[in-house]
Amino acid sequence: MGKVTGFMEYDRLAEANLPVTDRVKNYKEFVLHLSDAEAKQQGARCMDCGIPFCTTGCPVNNIIPDFNDLVYSQDWKAAIDVLHSTNNFPEFTGRICPAPCEAACTLNINADAVGIKSIEHAIIDKAWENDWVTPQIPAHKTGKKVAIVGSGPAGMAAAQQLARVGHSVVLLEKNSRIGGLLRYGIPDFKMEKSHIDRRMAQMAAEGVEFRVNQNVGENVKADDLLAEFDAVILAGGAEYPRDLPVTGRELDGVMYAMDFLTPQNQVVAGDTVANQVMASNKNVVVIGGGDTGSDCVGTSNRHGALSITQFELMPQPPEKENKELVWPNWPLKMRTSSSHEEGANRDWSITTKELIGENGKVVALKGAKVEWVNGKMVEIADSEFTIKADLVLLAMGFVSPVQKLLEVFGVEKDARGNAKATTEGADSYKTSKTKVFAAGDVRRGQSLVVWAIREGRQAAKAVDEFLMGSSTLPR
Ligand SMILES: Cc1cc2nc3c(=O)[nH]c(=O)nc-3n(C[C@H](O)[C@H](O)[C@H](O)COP(=O)(O)OP(=O)(O)OC[C@H]3O[C@@H](n4cnc5c(N)ncnc54)[C@H](O)[C@@H]3O)c2cc1C
Ligand code: SF4
Repeated sequence: MGKVTGFMEYDRLAEANLPVTDRVKNYKEFVLHLSDAEAKQQGARCMDCGIPFCTTGCPVNNIIPDFNDLVYSQDWKAAIDVLHSTNNFPEFTGRICPAPCEAACTLNINADAVGIKSIEHAIIDKAWENDWVTPQIPAHKTGKKVAIVGSGPAGMAAAQQLARVGHSVVLLEKNSRIGGLLRYGIPDFKMEKSHIDRRMAQMAAEGVEFRVNQNVGENVKADDLLAEFDAVILAGGAEYPRDLPVTGRELDGVMYAMDFLTPQNQVVAGDTVANQVMASNKNVVVIGGGDTGSDCVGTSNRHGALSITQFELMPQPPEKENKELVWPNWPLKMRTSSSHEEGANRDWSITTKELIGENGKVVALKGAKVEWVNGKMVEIADSEFTIKADLVLLAMGFVSPVQKLLEVFGVEKDARGNAKATTEGADSYKTSKTKVFAAGDVRRGQSLVVWAIREGRQAAKAVDEFLMGSSTLPR
């Protein structure tokens, strides 16, 4: 620990954001990483608490006190080495991770947590600026071949780890670009896609082969992969969205969030998208209060929506958590994203009763207030309302992986329809089918980028052990 009294001397400093009026004019990132001097001070706030709960709060177990200390002493090169030892892609997590590490920070018990995510962001940006992120080319090849189906953060992390220990890795993706939801779900204003391209160049140099437009189960046969490769990792995500079965669901202007978000990312990437649905001059209603819903708000604001309203079925969470009860766990509390700051009306405990149309197009939403009694949803009498809605975006989460991917490989599913595989013991990440593994949202259900990276890394180790009998990869 660099500065014994740092946590008493310095306040937490949030990263600066460009003003709302400027940033909603485009799709560029608007969060500015800390300066060297700011990062040094923030690193000094880490107080060597003895048991670093932050490290266990972080799904990839980043060695946070060490890199905080290295940033305090301005040894940025050593800091990126520590960060990369547990996390393949800190430029992704440093931008879009919700930072469960900070909820677990000991300083968070009675003060503001160390700004761990902002320090991570500063370290990796400095590393790229200084060309410290270079390919780690294996000294020898093992002669083993691994196919990975799905190129999101789980597939990318697994591919990089396996290539670095000398396996020939092919990453197959059904879309025309690599990156999974990082590429086609998460908007550019949260994470620009050049970060993925830069990593792809590094991974290509390390020996990863990327094959796009390969829809396994459609234009690529599962049996062919099983015949050609020594192991297969399924990393196809959890793409099956939750629907809203109400009257009017079929109307024009009612759509899944991903059908709204993906085309926008494609347009930013320079693609021509026929019939892109825009929110411009529309009254937009977003149903669902999570990350996806928030991204719909940010995108609608950039389109120039007339109004944006976001409804959530669950009650409004408390402004602040009771830290004595919940620390070091992830607390349920009110979260206001940068997209919400850009403008949206939000309401909680709202159920959608009907979508009203005229000439086949949605024009309004009929909803009602609900309360939760003994875990059951009860509609509040006389609370029905109608709100104008020209575009209704369904962002209520994802139910499971697309089942066909699991079925063509004949792997067993768990009760929620995910690929069934444990994460512990000798069988970790193995599905019921010999030499087929599963990692990321396809195994754990809809989750976070940082969990996908963890699963990709751990599945890579499991595959390496399966192929070679032992593995030098970290767990
Ligand atoms: C709109 C949105 C915003 C989000 N925002 C955040 C955020 O801010 N922070 C955060 O941590 N998490 C966020 N998440 C969640 C996060 O993106 C996912 O948890 C994460 O990407 C899962 O990684 P994955 O690699 O398991 O799967 P995915 O990223 O879903 O990648 C799976 C890939 O597999 C491909 N695939 C599927 N089936 C096949 C097949 N048959 N053949 C070939 N390829 C196939 C898909 O095309 C896809 O590219 C968000 C999710 C969404 C939808
Ligand atoms: S990856 Fe996420 S949880 Fe881990 S240190 Fe970074 S911000 Fe925190």
